[in-house]
Amino acid sequence: MFTKVIDFALDILNKLASDEGNAFRYRLIYGFCFVVHAFYAILFGLVGVTELMIFNIVSTVLYMTGLIAIKNNRFTVVWLYLLSGEIMIHSLMTSIYIGFNYQFTLYALAIIPVTYFISFLDSEIKHPFVISSVLAAINVSTMIGALDISSVKLPVYEDFPLLFETSVMRINLITAVLILVSFSAMFIAKISYDLKVLRESNVTLDRLANYDQLTGLRNRNHIRAIFGEYMDSSEPYCVILGDIDDFKSVNDTYGHNAGDEVLRTVSSIISGSVGDSGVVCRWGGEEILILAKGAHKHCMELNEKILSKIRETVVESGEYNIGITMTFGLCDSDDASDIEKLISLADKRLYIGKNSGKNRIVAQG
Ligand code: GH3
Ligand code: MG
Ligand code: MG
Repeated sequence: MFTKVIDFALDILNKLASDEGNAFRYRLIYGFCFVVHAFYAILFGLVGVTELMIFNIVSTVLYMTGLIAIKNNRFTVVWLYLLSGEIMIHSLMTSIYIGFNYQFTLYALAIIPVTYFISFLDSEIKHPFVISSVLAAINVSTMIGALDISSVKLPVYEDFPLLFETSVMRINLITAVLILVSFSAMFIAKISYDLKVLRESNVTLDRLANYDQLTGLRNRNHIRAIFGEYMDSSEPYCVILGDIDDFKSVNDTYGHNAGDEVLRTVSSIISGSVGDSGVVCRWGGEEILILAKGAHKHCMELNEKILSKIRETVVESGEYNIGITMTFGLCDSDDASDIEKLISLADKRLYIGKNSGKNRIVAQG
């Protein structure tokens, strides 16, 4: 339940952090700034700090204009500069008029990661790192400037009750943390989503590179990578090469699609029977190679089980019911010095099987 809620939240945050969420992100930050400045315009009006009231009214007009521009898709990097500029001037103004203690500089701090995040995600912005870093440097200078001003000069309005001062400080602290938390959460959502997409495409690429599309079996490249593991192991194993009998006539009689269906069925029977005790690969057209773990007796039994299942199977393709048989060449790991030689030997035995009536397993010769 809890993880579902987290996933849901991450999903929404990720949409906000996605490429399509560009306008939304600007709208979010501009809307947020509009509300905060409207609040302060009213508050400064009520307590009689006219200069800050006027500045906050001008700011709300700026943010409203920005919101309209974003709605009409007329958004450029200029609005990012205006946003940073407004916050910086506001920090300085509040320091001059009511003092540094009110912590309006927190906004100049909170906007730094936001600037990095939105400019990185906005493909229109050419040098996001440079732009964000320059803005960050100016922001920090402004914060220091605001501190310096307050240390050399008393604020113009200084006789507010302590409760007013601490309340404004609280509001500023909470609002700045809210900005940081929401953008950090979006950042995490963005990273986790990108990782998920990357993992999924890796799985797809792995399937395309290592598995046969038609049968879902490993392809020749993939099984070659596994040869070493078998040769290095001290455990016995067998190499089995199988080939569908008279497959050409299946294609000729029932059509290529029916042939494909036969291949899929045979592959699924073999991989189902081998399970974890070996690996199965589509070696060529209708040839299947099995590396089976175990000594001769065990592998022979496995091979017999496979052959009897194939003999019993009737493949349905359209209106046709197609019976199939297969011929196998089997050899043990002791029969040759490496896997390539074992495969040649299995191929030779398969050939013997084909020439002696098919539908059988040949493990000698
Ligand atoms: P044998 O019993 O001696 O193995 O005879 P065969 O007809 O099975 O062997 P042959 O080598 O003459 O023909 C193999 C056929 O397999 C020819 C080829 O068109 C067909 N084939 C190879 N790959 C595929 C495939 O992916 N799908 C289908 N439908 N046919 C395939
Ligand atoms: Mg064949
Ligand atoms: Mg063949």
